[in-house]
Amino acid sequence: MAAKLLLHGCCAHCTAYSFKYWQEQGFEVSVYWYNPNIHPFTEHQNRLEAMVKLSQELSFELVTEPLYQMAEYFKKVAEKPDERCRTCFDMRLGQTAVYAARYGYEYFSSSLFISPHQKHQEAVFSAEAFAKETGVKFAYADLRKRYSDSRHITKPLDLYRQQYCGCIYSEYERFGKTDPPA
Ligand code: SF4
Repeated sequence: MAAKLLLHGCCAHCTAYSFKYWQEQGFEVSVYWYNPNIHPFTEHQNRLEAMVKLSQELSFELVTEPLYQMAEYFKKVAEKPDERCRTCFDMRLGQTAVYAARYGYEYFSSSLFISPHQKHQEAVFSAEAFAKETGVKFAYADLRKRYSDSRHITKPLDLYRQQYCGCIYSEYERFGKTDPPA
């Protein structure tokens, strides 16, 4: 019987190839949606809707965390916005590992590891820490060279495509140039 892997999905475009990759490695893969870092809420919903469509196209089980927890995200990052990405990874990967432990998944991973735009090593450290804490194994592969393959899968599907990483800090960095956040 295939081992169960819970794949945190940060967005549909990064999840597409990540899902296929882990499925090809022989895992039974479910995708987990928990992204309190995506602001504002309407943007979160647009990205979630794209993920739902992808799950139908690629026929994977999508587990959607009902809690948005935007306020908790801001409470955690507000004091040190420069270190927010690690905090952001900790929230999302920590929750994924905890969910995986509670519902009997042997492994967890994330679509974050396909993106060349993420702080890759920070995300690896975060996942390793939660693997230790929960006992769920961290399935790691550096898929950054397959980023464009993932985009090729989603291109014909006409899914909503985001213009910034997720948080309002990243939105400002993308569209505002004069006064970057401290
Ligand atoms: S830039 Fe992206 S990874 Fe970093 S805190 Fe914002 S949403 Fe999270």
